[in-house]
Amino acid sequence: MPELPEVEAVCRRLREEAQGATIRRLAIRRASICKPDNAEDISAAARNRKLRSIERRGKHILLGLSGGTTLYVHLRMTGNLYVIPDYRFAPVSARALFELPDNRAIVFDDPRALGKITLSARLEQLGVEPLTPAFTVEKLKEMISQSRQPAKTFLMDQRHIAGLGNIYAAEALFKAGQDPRKPIATKRAGAMYSSIVAVLADAVHSAYSTYSKPGHLLAAEEQKLMVYGREGEPCRVCGRAIRRIPQGGRSTYFCAGCQK
Ligand SMILES: [Zn+2]
Repeated sequence: MPELPEVEAVCRRLREEAQGATIRRLAIRRASICKPDNAEDISAAARNRKLRSIERRGKHILLGLSGGTTLYVHLRMTGNLYVIPDYRFAPVSARALFELPDNRAIVFDDPRALGKITLSARLEQLGVEPLTPAFTVEKLKEMISQSRQPAKTFLMDQRHIAGLGNIYAAEALFKAGQDPRKPIATKRAGAMYSSIVAVLADAVHSAYSTYSKPGHLLAAEEQKLMVYGREGEPCRVCGRAIRRIPQGGRSTYFCAGCQK
């Protein structure tokens, strides 16, 4: 599933390849991706509009069009958004095609068709963006002091930090040496902060390189992970077996030796 780094990589690549282009036509091949909005309305809103901006908020992609409309794209489980050289050769799993004047197209490719393109999204509850100057040690310390949640639950709560998902929350906790079951002590805010930023920045870099092959988004998650998905395997630092426990309906992977 694309997490913040993969969505960020998608945005950066799109900005390089398609920002400023005019959308000649938006062909929606699967109307259900637009629910609760209407596919025809979305097509009409995009037609002959310039793609002014491509921004990310949490895991949402915001396509800012001339005239003031914003389209909200969410990749969910298997979605991807990338430019192809010719709209006539789109993959069968293309659910929407933004045709550009030079016959290129931005394809919304989504084998499971669970992703979304809509005219609005609920972003107001999203917390701070971890890769912007708004995210600081002080900000994290303030949020930690107001919460008694276990560390993993705290990090996964989108009202605190936007876009941090199951993989990178587990990796950041390992890097900080933080037990996912215990609340984060305010004196450890600095270590937690640096770990979150480092893990995400590395992952953006890695996702961006992997993304040079359209459709290979999932490969970004195959980078060398320290704990995620490694239940029973030896910790790369201390050799103890990585444990997996349920937390908030999701699996948490951690090393009981390294994370206190
Ligand atoms: Zn360990």
